[in-house]
Amino acid sequence: MSNRERVRSTRALILRRRDVNDADRVLTVLTPGDGKLELIAKGVRKTTSRKAGHLELFTHAALLVAQGRTWDIITEAQTVESFRHLRENLEAIAAASYIAELIDSFAEGGDDARTLWDLALQVLRELDATSAQGRVPPTLLIWFNLHLLSLTGFQPQFFRCLDCAQELEPSLNFLSLHAGGVFCPRCAPRHDDVEALEVDTLKVLRFLQSRSWNEAASITVRTPVLRRVESVLNRYLIVVLERQVRSTAFLRRLAATQPAPEG
Ligand SMILES: [Zn+2]
Repeated sequence: MSNRERVRSTRALILRRRDVNDADRVLTVLTPGDGKLELIAKGVRKTTSRKAGHLELFTHAALLVAQGRTWDIITEAQTVESFRHLRENLEAIAAASYIAELIDSFAEGGDDARTLWDLALQVLRELDATSAQGRVPPTLLIWFNLHLLSLTGFQPQFFRCLDCAQELEPSLNFLSLHAGGVFCPRCAPRHDDVEALEVDTLKVLRFLQSRSWNEAASITVRTPVLRRVESVLNRYLIVVLERQVRSTAFLRRLAATQPAPEG
């Protein structure tokens, strides 16, 4: 096989990186065509590296990748979008890290990941633009969470009762994180492990789950409802990711980082 055939080009989002050898780094990236990949960037920790600046966390880069033995090798890297505002304050860094870690947890290798790729770019662009203006919408990460769950096959059911399949009414319904959705008041007594779910909370979850960000961006949610929605989603993620036997470090961090109240 000629060298030309063994080199391919791909777009990539840098999700995670770790140092190996003396000067190399292994990058976990999301690609549109091949899902999640681990690639090695050789010599990238040397001060003379021309690739280093294009392989920062959260960067959208265009890569040339050559076949390697353990990891495929990044031979060229060029920044497409730097998302530089994501690195300018702690709130934006925390939000971008959360997004990257969730994508890392849910993305699979080897599959076409175009819809996940589009969602990832959209949320990073939105976060970058809004953090540049100093006002990240508090609903953005919730919206992203819900859409990520839908794309990866873990969509919680907020519209119909999980048991009788009747449309849920705007009254007090009952959430089951383990069942992945909501039971109506008639069916709930037949199930263990349910918690009351207030109408306002259910409405926000339904709205953010079913709308594009363009439609969802304008809603304002009262802080107590926002906190409740975040709690439901964080606990649901833990249930889903445990079922998936994912990174325990991520689960510990998720449990430890309940979002701080708004100032
Ligand atoms: Zn029911």
